[in-house]
Amino acid sequence: SSAYPVPPASIHSTNPLHPPSDKPNNIIEHTKKDATGRVSVKKYLKGALLGKGGFAKCFQVTDLDTKEDWACKIIQKSSLTKQRHKQKLQSEIKIHKSLSHKNIVRFHDVFEDKENVYIVMELCPNQTMLEHVKRRKRLSESDTRRFMLQILDAVRFMHQYRVIHRDLKLGNFFLGKNNEVKIGDFGLACKLQFDGERKKTLCGTPNYIAPEVLDGKDGHSYEVDIWSIGVILYTCLVGKPPFETADVKSTYKLIQSNTYSFPPRLEISESAKALVRSILQSRPEKRPSIEDIMRDDFFLGQGIALLQGRDDPLNTSGNN
Ligand code: ADP
Repeated sequence: SSAYPVPPASIHSTNPLHPPSDKPNNIIEHTKKDATGRVSVKKYLKGALLGKGGFAKCFQVTDLDTKEDWACKIIQKSSLTKQRHKQKLQSEIKIHKSLSHKNIVRFHDVFEDKENVYIVMELCPNQTMLEHVKRRKRLSESDTRRFMLQILDAVRFMHQYRVIHRDLKLGNFFLGKNNEVKIGDFGLACKLQFDGERKKTLCGTPNYIAPEVLDGKDGHSYEVDIWSIGVILYTCLVGKPPFETADVKSTYKLIQSNTYSFPPRLEISESAKALVRSILQSRPEKRPSIEDIMRDDFFLGQGIALLQGRDDPLNTSGNN
C-alpha cells in the first residue's frame, strides 16, 4: 500500500521488445514465502549508485516498509558466463551470510529475479580506509592502533570459523556510520574443510598478495591474511604500500625477495617497525598469529584487553 515515487516516463515504452511492466524500474521486489506458505512482497526503492565492481553495481536502497537504508549489490545473471563465476558468487554469499561481527559488513538479505541477483547489506556511507589514508597522507600511530585492532578482531573471528579472506586491503575496509571499520567483499574468501588444509588455487588477484601464493608450490592458508595485515600496517604508517612499483611484475619480484624499507625521513617508532618486520616474513610458518599480534607491545595492552573481553578499548580511546 506504500505509494511509489512516480516512475520515469521511459518505462512506459511502446517498444514491443520491451513491453511496459507494471513495476516501476526503481523498485526492487523480493517475493518471500514463509513457513506456512504465505506470500509477502518486500519492496526496496533504488537510490544512488554507490560504486561498481567487477561483476556488480552497488546501489543505496530504502526498504519501503521500515524506511531503513541499505546497500544492495546487483549482479546481472547474464554477466556470469562461466560456471566458475556462479560458484564463486554462491561461495561469496554463503561465507558472508555466515559471519556476524561488528567489524564485518552485515549481511541482510539475498534474492533473485529473472535478470539479477541482489545482495542487501549494511550501508557504509563513508567510503573506505583507502580514501581515508590517502586524505590524511598517513595515519598517526594511535589512529593506526585503533584501526588495526578492529581489523584484527574481525579477522580473528573469521579465522575461528575457518574462513580465510584472502583479499584484505584498505579498499575493502568500509567505514560505518560512526566511522567504525567494517570488512567487506568476500569475493576471494574461502572456508577450510578441516584444520591444516592447504588451498592450492586462488581465482583472482589479491592486492596485498603473499609470497607463498606467488610461489604456488605448497599451497596457502591463514598466513596469507597475516601477510596482508603486515602490508596494511606498513601502509597506514608510511602512506603507501611496501612493495609498490609502477608495474605488477616488479612488485612481485620485490615481494619474492622481501625487499622493502621504511623511509628514513618519517618518524616511526621502533615498536611499530619491529611489528611490521615480524609479520612480513617470507616463510608463512614464521609469521605471528592474530593473537600474537594483538599481544604485541605496539598495542600498549589494548589488544590484550580486547582478547580478554575487557571493556572495549576501541570506544574509550581517541585521546591517547
Ligand atoms: P569490487 O568488485 O570492487 O570488489 P563490489 O562489487 O563489492 O566491489 O562493490 C563495488 C563498489 O560498491 C565498492 O567499491 C563500493 O564503492 C561500493 N560498496 C560495496 N559495498 C558497499 C556497502 N556495504 N556500503 C557502501 N558502499 C558499498
